[in-house]
Amino acid sequence: MSQIFTGNFTQQEPLPEESIEAAVRVMRHGRLHRYNLSDGEKGETALLEEEFAAFTGAKYCLAVASGGYALAAALRAAGAQAGDAVLTNAFTLAPVPGAIANAGCTPVFVEVTDKLVMDLDDLQMKIAQTKARFLMLSHMRGHIVDMDALMAICDRAGVQVIEDCAHTMGAAWNGVPSGRHGVAGCYSTQTFKHLNSGEGGFLVTDDAELAARAIMLSGSYMLYERHTAGPPAEVFEQIRLETPNCSGRMDNLRAAILRPQLRNLPDQCAAWNARYQRVESGLANTPGVKVIERPEAESYVMSSFQFLCPDFTAEQMVALQKRTAARGVELKWFGADTPVGFTSRHDSWQYVSAQSLPQTDRILAGLMDMRLPLTFSLQDCDVIAQIIREEAGILHQAG
Ligand SMILES: *Cc1c(COP(=O)(O)O)cnc(C)c1O
Repeated sequence: MSQIFTGNFTQQEPLPEESIEAAVRVMRHGRLHRYNLSDGEKGETALLEEEFAAFTGAKYCLAVASGGYALAAALRAAGAQAGDAVLTNAFTLAPVPGAIANAGCTPVFVEVTDKLVMDLDDLQMKIAQTKARFLMLSHMRGHIVDMDALMAICDRAGVQVIEDCAHTMGAAWNGVPSGRHGVAGCYSTQTFKHLNSGEGGFLVTDDAELAARAIMLSGSYMLYERHTAGPPAEVFEQIRLETPNCSGRMDNLRAAILRPQLRNLPDQCAAWNARYQRVESGLANTPGVKVIERPEAESYVMSSFQFLCPDFTAEQMVALQKRTAARGVELKWFGADTPVGFTSRHDSWQYVSAQSLPQTDRILAGLMDMRLPLTFSLQDCDVIAQIIREEAGILHQAG
C-alpha cells in the first residue's frame, strides 16, 4: 500500500499569543485608525514601521493595506506617469502586473531563466527597445537574480528598480537585504507570505521624496508628521498639495498582530529553510525532476518549493499532478492554459497586450510548485518528497 500524505498545504500556523493579546488591547481601546492616538501615544502602525525600517536597514518605511498597494504607490512615488512602459517579470503573480496597471502604466514582460529568475540579456534588450525608465522586479517564489549584475545594467541605463519582495522578506543577496538594492522595496503580509495579517504590506526606501509622496498617496491627509518612520516635515512642503490621496493605510489592529511576528521572523525563516532543504534532498537525483540550483550569494527564505520536469509533456505534467494529488500532495502547475488558484501566466492577463515570451512559456510548461507551511514537520517533508519521487519516476519510465 503506497503512502498517503494527510497534511493541509494551505494551513498556516496560528498567530502567536502575544499577537492575540496585542490585538485584544487595541480592540479594547478602540483606536484602530493609525492617526487615532491618545496623548503621547505613537500607535501600533508607527511603531511597526520603525521596527520594519530597522529590520531592513532602510531610512523610511510605510505600512499599507497590501503588497500590491505598496508596489503601485512605489511606482507612482518614484515618478512613473500614466502610459509609461514598466519592465517586469513574465513569471510572477497577478498583483505585480496589476500594480503596474493600477498606476496607469503598461507592463512589458521580461523572460525567465531555468533558475526561475529574470533573464538579464532579455532585460538589456527590452530596456534598449522600450527606453523604459522603471523595472518592477519580482523575486518570484523567493528566487533572487544576480542583483549586482542587474543593478549595474539598470544604473547604467538610468532605470529605477522597484523590488517586489513578497517572497523574499528576510532574504538577502551578497549580504544586502532583499528590497534594499533598488530605489524602493515592497513586501506583503498577506496570510501566505512570511508575516500574517490577513492582508497588508510595506514599502521601504532611503529616498526622502519618494517616501513623502508614498505617505501622501496612502492617505495621510496633513498628518504626515505622525509618521515617525517617514522623512522630516520640510520634505512634504511642496509635494503635500500635489499628491492625490488614494487611501491604503495599515490600521493599528493589523500592526499590533504583526509586531510580535516580526520579532520571531528570523526563527521562522530558519524553520522554512529546514523544510525546503528536506524536500530538496529528498528529490535530489530523481529521474525526470530538476531541482533549482541556488547561487552562493543568495540567502533565501523558502516557504514554497519549485521543481522542473523539463522533458515532460503537458499530459505527463497533468498526470503527475493527478497522481500526487491522489496521495495528498498538492502541486501547482504553471503551464496550464487557464489560471487555477494562485497560478497565472502572462497570457492570462488580458488587459495587457499579448507579448511573445517563448522561453518563459517553455520553462513554465515544465514547472511545478507547492507550498511548505510551517504546520508541516520535517518528517512530513520527507513523505512529500518520497511521493513526488515515486510518481515522477513512474511517469518518467513510461515516458
Ligand atoms: C502576494 C504577492 C504580492 C502582493 O500581494 P498582495 O496580496 O497585494 O499583498 C506581490 N507579488 C507576488 C509575487 C506575490 O505573491
